[in-house]
Amino acid sequence: MECHDIDAVDVLVCGAGSAGFCAAVQAARAGMKTALVERYGMPGGIMTVMGNNDVALFYAHKRQVIRGIGWEFVVSLADRGFAHIPDMTKDVPHSQLGVKVNIPAAGHWMDEMLLSAGVRLYYGQPAVAVETEGRKVQAVIISTKGGLRRIRASMVIDCTGDGDICAWAGAAYECGDAESGILQPGTVRYYFQAAQVGKVRDEKTLSAFYETGELLEEDTMRHPIKTLRCQNGNNVNHISGFNGADSESKMWADIEGRRSVYRVMKALKKAETGLTVENIAPETGMRETRRILGDWYITAEEYERGISYPDGICYSFYPIDLHQDGMKEIHQIFLIDGQVPQIPLSALIVRDLDNVYVAGRCASGDRLANSAFRVKASCMAMGQAAGAAAAVAVRENGGQTRGCDLERIKAILRADGAIVP
Ligand SMILES: Cc1cc2nc3c(=O)[nH]c(=O)nc-3n(C[C@H](O)[C@H](O)[C@H](O)COP(=O)(O)OP(=O)(O)OC[C@H]3O[C@@H](n4cnc5c(N)ncnc54)[C@H](O)[C@@H]3O)c2cc1C
Repeated sequence: MECHDIDAVDVLVCGAGSAGFCAAVQAARAGMKTALVERYGMPGGIMTVMGNNDVALFYAHKRQVIRGIGWEFVVSLADRGFAHIPDMTKDVPHSQLGVKVNIPAAGHWMDEMLLSAGVRLYYGQPAVAVETEGRKVQAVIISTKGGLRRIRASMVIDCTGDGDICAWAGAAYECGDAESGILQPGTVRYYFQAAQVGKVRDEKTLSAFYETGELLEEDTMRHPIKTLRCQNGNNVNHISGFNGADSESKMWADIEGRRSVYRVMKALKKAETGLTVENIAPETGMRETRRILGDWYITAEEYERGISYPDGICYSFYPIDLHQDGMKEIHQIFLIDGQVPQIPLSALIVRDLDNVYVAGRCASGDRLANSAFRVKASCMAMGQAAGAAAAVAVRENGGQTRGCDLERIKAILRADGAIVP
């Protein structure tokens, strides 16, 4: 099939989620001709399209450890009344310390920050293939309404969450548990009809429906009506047994997600709760897919101990948080006071490629470490770090990820407000 060149850039970021957004803004602000490819028409990934609008965590043990472009974004939204930033110095469970962003405002504000940084946007045009030469990705092919188009790039940053670019280019990866292949369950977001809230009968219960099998426990995690209502359908189900890095399996995760929500809708109606679901995310959000192998592989032990790396480039903070199938308890390990995990730049350098960084959920580490550093503020910090590194690699290092001057990368990050170890 014919495929025309559409662009040639210094830095091409694939995926406009939490990581990709920050990577693209940073690379462009650092003077790189930057393009951003995104399969949806809206940036934000899991934060917006998939509806999980909780951005965790910018603070560790009551001290800010992540700032930079991600923080600038949430503060800009909060200043306009479209995000809630809790007091992060309070002694409350970590689940209450995430920033809640308004989804349409978040999508819009990401557009504006990307455009004002000068990023060339390719929304609604998924990456479908790569062209490689040796250990380098020369170009990414995107699918447009006009047919396939080629974007040539000196450096590529894979922020697809699933590590698509790296996997297609032949880089090694892990996916789920090494022995069983099990992955964390996904969750599908839905939204209640807002006008009903206030007329809802919180005292009603769905218990009878679990007995008859009309409702599965993992459809609601057995939350009471009040919790479902207050969460507005966010993070209240488990869709288990699917692999988001396999298109067939992912399709069934989406179908099962809608089956699950429909069971909830029927039960809410039958129980006369006064609650109706009126909208649903287009896909089941997947917590875990591919982890691309980098020059460094962050282990849970390193993460928990908060060890310092010679090339530590940003911080991350969240408990180990491995969701398990169905109603099984989340495997959590909380970080001891004072310990703040770092992400080394080498965990963002793709082991098998020379001009590709990886950032966000698909960065290099074991399952347990990944279950913690996958949270959005950490993805934002990793994305920004990869964007700065890519700029130094293009400008001073012959387009190679390895061997960049770390202090130059840190200087770019600091200039854009980031906290670096
Ligand atoms: C159900 C659920 C609940 C969660 N709860 C929380 C929480 O409460 N707090 C928190 O901080 N984190 C939470 N997380 C984790 C966090 O949201 C994600 O790990 C994080 O958003 C990942 O960011 P990312 O940028 O790496 O990937 P994503 O947000 O997945 O972004 C990847 C982007 O790449 C795009 N893309 C993918 N493939 C292609 C392609 N081939 N071509 C072009 N574009 C492509 C996608 O459309 C998407 O926009 C949750 C995750 C899930 C699934």
